[in-house]
Amino acid sequence: MIQPVAVIGAGPFGLSTAAHLRARGLPVRVFGEPMISWRDHMPAGMLLKSTPAASSFDAPQPGHTLADYCTAAGIPRLVTDEDIIPVETFIGYGEWFQQKLVPRLERVRVVSVDRRPGGGFELKLDSGELFTARAVVVATGLSGLAHLPPELAGAAADGPTPTGPVSHSSQHHDLSRFKGRELIVVGAGQSALETAVLAAEAGADVRVVSRGRGRVAFGAPPWQQPKLRPESPFGRAWSLWALSYYPQPYRRLPEGARHYLVRRVLGPLGAWWLRDRFEGKVRVSEVDRIVRADAGAGRPAITVLASGGETRELAADHVIAATGYRVDIAAMDFLAPELRTRLAVSRGTPKLGAGYVSSVPGLYFTGLPAASSYGPVMRFVCGTEFASPRLARHLAAAHG
Ligand SMILES: Cc1cc2nc3c(=O)[nH]c(=O)nc-3n(C[C@H](O)[C@H](O)[C@H](O)COP(=O)(O)OP(=O)(O)OC[C@H]3O[C@@H](n4cnc5c(N)ncnc54)[C@H](O)[C@@H]3O)c2cc1C
Repeated sequence: MIQPVAVIGAGPFGLSTAAHLRARGLPVRVFGEPMISWRDHMPAGMLLKSTPAASSFDAPQPGHTLADYCTAAGIPRLVTDEDIIPVETFIGYGEWFQQKLVPRLERVRVVSVDRRPGGGFELKLDSGELFTARAVVVATGLSGLAHLPPELAGAAADGPTPTGPVSHSSQHHDLSRFKGRELIVVGAGQSALETAVLAAEAGADVRVVSRGRGRVAFGAPPWQQPKLRPESPFGRAWSLWALSYYPQPYRRLPEGARHYLVRRVLGPLGAWWLRDRFEGKVRVSEVDRIVRADAGAGRPAITVLASGGETRELAADHVIAATGYRVDIAAMDFLAPELRTRLAVSRGTPKLGAGYVSSVPGLYFTGLPAASSYGPVMRFVCGTEFASPRLARHLAAAHG
C-alpha cells in the first residue's frame, strides 16, 4: 500500500501546505479541525490586524486569495490596506479554501507520532486507527502553546480556566460573559488591547496592566506610513521587508539573535484602527513588573511594582493573561517521547534545515514552531507564501 504524507493541522499553514503537496501529486492525509484557533480561541467580533494583502493562504494555483473568496461569497472585496477583515469573514475564507483545495479533510486528532524502525512514521488517531506515513508535517499552530507567566500562576492553582480567577486569552470566545464585572487584562499586544476593547464594549469595567512604560501603543494608519521605505506585509520598513521576503538566511543568524528577533520584531503594538475604541474606555496601568498574583479572598489580586518603586495591589473579578504563546517541543505531547528526544532543539523549538525539515528526516514543522528558524514572518498567515512551496518541494524531492 502507498504510504501517504500526514499533515497534522488544518489552520492556514496546514491547509496551504497540504494544497501544495497535493498539487505535486503526493498522497496526503490531513488531520485537524479547520480554522479552530480562529473560531474557538479568539474573541467573537475580532478584526484581523493583518491587511488583506497579508492575509491569504498561499496556494499552488491562482484563484484562492481572500479577495477571490469575497468575490465567490458575494461580499465586498477586501483588498486595500484600509480594508479591515472581520474574523468571521476570515474563518469563512479558510473553510472555503479547505473545501476547494483540501477536500477529504479528516476531523480527528492525531494522538501519537512515532518513528518506525524500517523508516517512515507510525501515527495513531483518536478514532483508534493506526497507519504508516512516509513523512509528517506538524502544522499544529497555537494548539497547546498558550503561555501563562509564572508570576500569574499563583492565582491559578489548577491552571488557567475561563471560570476561575485567571484565564488565558485563548480560552475566550464570547467576552459578553464579563458584562458588569471588573476585569484585568495583562499584556500590551494586539490580542490584549482588542480583548480589552471587546470586553469593555460588552459592558465590562476593564483595566489593562502592561509591563514596561509606554508599552501600550498603536501603529500608524496606512496613509501615515513612511513613503521612502520598502513595503512589506507589516508596514514600510527595511527590517520588515528583509524578514518578510528573505527568511532563508535567518537560519544562519546566531541563536541568541534569532530568538530575540522572533520575540521583538513585530512585538506588542495595537492596530491603528483600535486606538479610538481603546482610549478613554479602558484604564491602563503601566508597571515595572508583576510580582505575584493571589486568589485567596475569592477575587484575584495582582501585586505590581509600580514605576516609582512602590508596590501596589490591583484586584478584579477576573484576570485574563493575554500573554501569548511559547513554542516548546515538550508541550507537543502527540510526538512520542523517543522522537522528541531525538529532535535537535534550540530553547525548546525545533532546529529546522532547508525545506523546513527537522533533524529527524521526514519530520517537518511549519508555522509558529518554525519561527525560530525562519523568522517572525512564520507567526503570521503571510508566512505561508514562503514556507508552503519550499516545504512541499523539499518533501517531494526527498520522499516523493
Ligand atoms: C488573537 C490572535 C490574533 C491573530 N491575528 C492575526 C492576524 O491578524 N494576521 C495573521 O497573519 N496572524 C494572526 N494571528 C496569528 C495566527 O493565529 C497564526 O498565524 C495562524 O493561525 C497560524 O496558523 P497555523 O495553521 O499554523 O495554526 P492554527 O491556526 O493554530 O491551526 C492549528 C491546527 O492544528 C490542529 N491540531 C492541533 N493539534 C492537533 C492534533 N494533535 N491532531 C490533529 N490536529 C491538530 C487544529 O485542529 C488546527 O486545525 C493571530 C493570533 C492570535 C492569537
